Amino acid sequence: MAGDGVTLRELDDRPVTDLNGVGDKRAAALAKVGVHSVMDMLCYYPRRYLDRSREATIGALSVGEEGMVLVRVTSVSARRTRNRRTIVEVRVEDDTGSLRLTFFNQPWRERQLSVGIEAVVFGKVDQYQGNNQMTNPLVDLVGDQTGRIVAVYPQSEAAGLHTWEFDSMAAEALRRVTGGRGFADPVPAEVLDTYHLVGRSEAFGGIHRPGSMKEVSEARRRLVFDELLRIQLELVQRKIELERTTMGIAHCVDGDLVGAFHGVLGFELTGAQVRTIDEIRADLVEPRPMHRLLQGDVGSGKTVVAVTAMLAAVQGGHQGAFMAPTGVLAEQHHLGVAEMLGDLTVPDPTTLLGNRPLRVELLTGRTPVADRRRITGDLASGGVDILIGTHALIQEGVDFFSLGVVVIDEQHRFGVEQRAALREKNADGAVPDVLVMTATPIPRTAAMTVYGDLDVSVLDEMPPGRTPIATSWLVDADDEVWGAVRSEVAAGMQAYVVCPLIDESETLEVSSAEETFADLSAGPLADMRVGLLHGRVGHVEREETMRRFRAGDLDVLVATTVIEVGVDVPNATIMVVLDAARFGIAQLHQLRGRVGRGTVASRCILVGEASTPDSEERLGALVRSTDGFELAEVDLDLRGEGTIMGERQKGRNDLRLASLRRDREWVEVAREVALQLVGDGDGLSRHPGLADEVALFLGEAESDFLLKS
Ligand code: ADP
Ligand code: MG
Repeated sequence: MAGDGVTLRELDDRPVTDLNGVGDKRAAALAKVGVHSVMDMLCYYPRRYLDRSREATIGALSVGEEGMVLVRVTSVSARRTRNRRTIVEVRVEDDTGSLRLTFFNQPWRERQLSVGIEAVVFGKVDQYQGNNQMTNPLVDLVGDQTGRIVAVYPQSEAAGLHTWEFDSMAAEALRRVTGGRGFADPVPAEVLDTYHLVGRSEAFGGIHRPGSMKEVSEARRRLVFDELLRIQLELVQRKIELERTTMGIAHCVDGDLVGAFHGVLGFELTGAQVRTIDEIRADLVEPRPMHRLLQGDVGSGKTVVAVTAMLAAVQGGHQGAFMAPTGVLAEQHHLGVAEMLGDLTVPDPTTLLGNRPLRVELLTGRTPVADRRRITGDLASGGVDILIGTHALIQEGVDFFSLGVVVIDEQHRFGVEQRAALREKNADGAVPDVLVMTATPIPRTAAMTVYGDLDVSVLDEMPPGRTPIATSWLVDADDEVWGAVRSEVAAGMQAYVVCPLIDESETLEVSSAEETFADLSAGPLADMRVGLLHGRVGHVEREETMRRFRAGDLDVLVATTVIEVGVDVPNATIMVVLDAARFGIAQLHQLRGRVGRGTVASRCILVGEASTPDSEERLGALVRSTDGFELAEVDLDLRGEGTIMGERQKGRNDLRLASLRRDREWVEVAREVALQLVGDGDGLSRHPGLADEVALFLGEAESDFLLKS
């Protein structure tokens, strides 16, 4: 029977005007909220439910707690305060009592909540002059929606669509399907059984017209699973396809070079580094190309792992490439890596001693033409072992003798095109192994979705001896701030001052940084050696500034976010971030990671007023925690799921019900089921219904996006 049911594609082919009561005018309004087809209507889910069968009455509300009640408006009044803010006061009642609602700065509530109207209100109950009240509650007008459970839809003031209209349209759409052939269910019955998932008809019925809250949660489970399964099916198929069609290099990882490198490091590897290196090594010896994400908080020691991977290739006669997001960072990495590898040698039978010094080169847009020619020539003949550059490196016409391992630092968009470009790097078409590194900690399951076809290694342990960075937040950059900088410098330490972020224009940002620099050098930091670094400082000058800061010839470095990643000066122990509320959590965490790199206790002072409740939360979180994973969770909470999938507007194909955070176990389940269904490499040929849905929800553009993220 399932086989004859109505498919989602059929429903997507039917315009909403097919539904009774939806004419052109309403169709136009629905289009504004992204609802074009009957399927869109069915996938426009309620955001809340009011359970009339439970004690959702005014009489049952308790002060200090959140509550949701269905009420009738009995009076409305508006007034203005002295400072010209509007206060709307609304009296509401049900059969058990009355309640006062107070709205600040929402003058339109006076029109919305006219006397006699019914609404669901949700908010925290407090007491005011002996009466219960809610301040700025969430309000949904429900019209005359009936049923034990009332589904509350996201309504749209702009489009003039109310929740009760969605309710009746969804009901009509459901009636059309269930009164006829019912929904086709493309997910195999065994899978539904194994994970105790309800059928699709029950799922759509339960989400829109539930008889109980239990039905809602069962419906939600099923629909969440479907959303995640579609994504995982696409990702797993792509991964299998890639592995099948690409020939990699089976590296021979036994050799002296890696051991020699670890010997000159001057510290023991952390347990996490050892484990991660083992994971990478296991990938390298396989003929299939590695595609691994290395996650590790700022300062967790990713560079050593990356260099180890490249050396494993080098000792087998191949080359390594290390790519950074910007030229500045490439320069930084070049200095760091060249220093780390200083005295190492590689076998070279053409020389008298049978070896030669290991050679690390830097290639960026700023490399002079003559140097560039020399370096690319030596790359092609194998004379250069490790090349460091920007992400653009692989897309340029740079040929390698035999590129074995590519490391990509802080690149979240390493996708199909870049991988295709890698294929062309080696004359024999062998695809190098790829290690992508990120310090932006993403919960593992989210990573699985976002980086669906990557394997993940996590550096979850810091090198020993780090002291936590004490973070404080001050509204003004006053004497307390500069006094702290002065006392660090007096103690022989160094400081960073991060200038306000100006997203809109680099020119503005540069001039603001110059201004900050001038103000500070003439004012609070007058007696110190202060340097300036921003995106427009020329190469030579920048190198010189960095060199002086590293050498301790500068006390304070005033900089824009160019120092966000990669800068490593253990003697810097204090950072001041100006206008900190403009930065995101991840960015502040990255920036803060520039201090606390030595054994001396470090400080970070965030300066500025929080402009929104969210920015207050963000700054508060940074003060509370230095744990990148914890901060990532807060970030996810504040920014929502949409951001994980990219900065796009929520389109119709996005995850609608599934939350990568709340539903993390379902991500794993979906991954497992996807592997069961397509793991044999035959794709979805035995599951045409699923294949069609994946295509429907994840069109070309969508799946490309997933893989590029
Ligand atoms: P990340 O890139 O992960 O932010 P880095 O690779 O830049 O971190 O390492 C941060 C600092 O920690 C560097 O100075 C590095 O030399 C040092 N470091 C790395 N691993 C260890 C270790 N196992 N023990 C002590 N110090 C280490
Ligand atoms: Mg780093």
